[in-house]
Amino acid sequence: MIDFNIPPFVGKEIQYIEQAVKNKKICGDGEFTKKCSRWMEERFQVNHCLLTTSCTHALEMAAVLSGIQPGEEVILPSYTFVSTADAFVQRGAKLVFVDIRPDTMNLDECLLEDAITEKTRVIVPVHYAGVGCAMDEILDIAKRHSLKVVEDAAQGVGAYYKGRALGTIGDFGCYSFHETKNYSMGEGGALLFQEEEFIEKAEVLREKGTDRSKFFRGQVDKYRWVDYGSSYLPSDLNAAYLWAQLEMADEIRKDRLESWNYYHERLEGLERAGCIERPFVPDYADHNAHMYYIKVKDLEERGKLIQFLKEREIHTVFHYVPLHSAPAGRKFGRFHGEDRYTTRESERLLRLPMYYQLTREKQDQVVKAIEEFYE
Ligand SMILES: *Cc1c(COP(=O)(O)O)cnc(C)c1O
Repeated sequence: MIDFNIPPFVGKEIQYIEQAVKNKKICGDGEFTKKCSRWMEERFQVNHCLLTTSCTHALEMAAVLSGIQPGEEVILPSYTFVSTADAFVQRGAKLVFVDIRPDTMNLDECLLEDAITEKTRVIVPVHYAGVGCAMDEILDIAKRHSLKVVEDAAQGVGAYYKGRALGTIGDFGCYSFHETKNYSMGEGGALLFQEEEFIEKAEVLREKGTDRSKFFRGQVDKYRWVDYGSSYLPSDLNAAYLWAQLEMADEIRKDRLESWNYYHERLEGLERAGCIERPFVPDYADHNAHMYYIKVKDLEERGKLIQFLKEREIHTVFHYVPLHSAPAGRKFGRFHGEDRYTTRESERLLRLPMYYQLTREKQDQVVKAIEEFYE
């Protein structure tokens, strides 16, 4: 049996959770939360990193901080997870979907400008598979039209665009530490940003609309309700789990990249034979091996391949029914321009088993089974 995903576990998680209990501080913003956010600020060269309860919640915070108002528009790919859209729907925004590039599965930056109207406020690039979007072009367009850029970097922790960490390039970046991501705390995420002007508002938003963060730092003598807010801070127990993973961040990254490269090498023959396509990584991208996918001929062939692999106890998955074709996507948004690649490419894509400490032996089994399928 080969699982599609096994949550990462490096060994020290339990010890750190125990430490959090001994600290008598299991709510938010304890020792481990601070360790994790300081570590990310240094490692990823970003002025502010706030740990959150999920990437979905980091996106919600970014949507509020972006200042988007009901009826205004956000441009995003249709090929993404629902959270990218939900966060803006919650603010009453209209979704404008644009097509993706077939090579990286990221939104096509060449289509952005045409989708902009006088109501557009935000662009949300999603760094699919931890491979960065064309950020220079996107930032240039955003600047010329005074738009905010919110990076959905859920899959991009530890990945880089021209040397800059994904999630630190736009106005706001959102990470995920869900158990299916490279580094995990069960459920969790982070909001990142460079600008000083957002820190006070972000802290208030994260702390139920109060200035409790200031109170804990001794900057005010009592905390009060100062603005709209919610509860976006994770328990320090979860942060303790994450801290063990961040300490091992380089090892986890290296291990995943080795597995990624091994698939890539072993599947070259099938690509040459014209059976499948392998993922493409542009020169500017330093990816994090978040996922390994192949593309097959079409929907029908993919269904057969999934079944074939399942019979051999190999679990593979596809995802993202394009949002614009889903009931909520139709209700809250519209597709701008032609759907040349979103539907077609999403129907061809299949994700292979990928997790920390996946063995070469298991990868050989996966590759052999795919080869058999095409014989
Ligand atoms: C996983 C994921 C999310 C959601 O992350 P959670 O931490 O589960 O909320 C959002 N966007 C993308 C692209 C993702 O892959």
